[in-house]
Amino acid sequence: MPARINYRNYPFLASKREFPKLFIEKPSVLVSINEELRKKTLEVLKDAVEKGEIPIEILSDQEESVLVYYTILDIVKYINDKRIANRIALAYSKTASKIMDKEKNEALVAIANKLGLSVKFNTKGFPRIPWITGEKQNAKITFTTCQFSLPIKDYLLIVSQRLLHDPSYALVNHVVSGGYVHLDRNTFKRLLEEYIYFNIMLRINEAEPPDNPDFISLVDSVKPIIASYYEKIIEKTMIHGEIDARKEDLIVSDKLIMDDLFPPCIKKIIDSINSGGNPSHVERFNLAAFMGHIGLDVDEILEYFKKTPDYNERIARYQIEHILGIRGSRKKYKPYNCENLKAYNLCPLHEQCPGGRNPVAVYKYNVKKLLRKKKQDNVEKTNKKEKAAGGI
Ligand code: SF4
Repeated sequence: MPARINYRNYPFLASKREFPKLFIEKPSVLVSINEELRKKTLEVLKDAVEKGEIPIEILSDQEESVLVYYTILDIVKYINDKRIANRIALAYSKTASKIMDKEKNEALVAIANKLGLSVKFNTKGFPRIPWITGEKQNAKITFTTCQFSLPIKDYLLIVSQRLLHDPSYALVNHVVSGGYVHLDRNTFKRLLEEYIYFNIMLRINEAEPPDNPDFISLVDSVKPIIASYYEKIIEKTMIHGEIDARKEDLIVSDKLIMDDLFPPCIKKIIDSINSGGNPSHVERFNLAAFMGHIGLDVDEILEYFKKTPDYNERIARYQIEHILGIRGSRKKYKPYNCENLKAYNLCPLHEQCPGGRNPVAVYKYNVKKLLRKKKQDNVEKTNKKEKAAGGI
């Protein structure tokens, strides 16, 4: 008998067929007019955006979790901010992955099937991959059992999204037979997590938010959460008390315009990654150190590295944690100074950027300059208004 799915933990698997009553009206319309559900939706959204996790425990049952999930899809689509959509999809997929750690194999198969993957769980005839632990006399051979089999086309569909450059997912590193890729539980669960993320991003894209005043007022209540998330990022980049300006000027229509303010050397590394280039070790170090110094966390920095041709999540995370001082020597590294970046031919300019002799200083200068300009624009606007009012 197939395992039963608890939709409270996995609301992204629920459809109209299982919960027809919840879809008589749009879930986001139902939630918008219910005070308690509105509150819970805001709480879930806040944790998802700020902590990268879904507080499942506050949702009393499956119905509530499904309603809140579908409402969040509509809200995120309405807000139309890629960074926030990404945070939400990551929060749901990572929370699901943690819960799946404790699930039986049959439950993982049921979740995969519900997502449309034709996975099989084999109780006999599955490959066992030997690997060696320990060194010399203490070396031991252990076996990893590959009981999950995924059709090659499903496997490639998942891997081609964001894991394409990670060698541990290359087909040559797996047992393939009879049109199936044979996987151990951990690898299969990681692929499932990735497919959940991918599915949620698709659902956000397809969502059709209602044009309803209650829903719009719910979206308005979400805006301070997003602004506060962006403010925290900005806060970390500013020296306390140095800037007498309004941080919200860096948030335009609930979006942070941070990337536009990066110095040319950092933009060049990002552009090179986005266009399929393979950045050197020095470029990777400087990109990670720069991002760490302007306040991004490990997951946010990882997003910039996902398109590198040899991307390996485990190794990249480990290295970023070192650069950020979370591991090893606990020293938080700064990017090289401009002089060194020029010596490594990583500065695209002949001259020096205004604002300092390090990309972080230049970025902070750009932030301040923009804030000053906004402040001046606001003063001019107010003066004009006062003049116009006086002329009537
Ligand atoms: S001058 Fe410095 S901050 Fe500006 S692009 Fe060159 S290395 Fe980067």
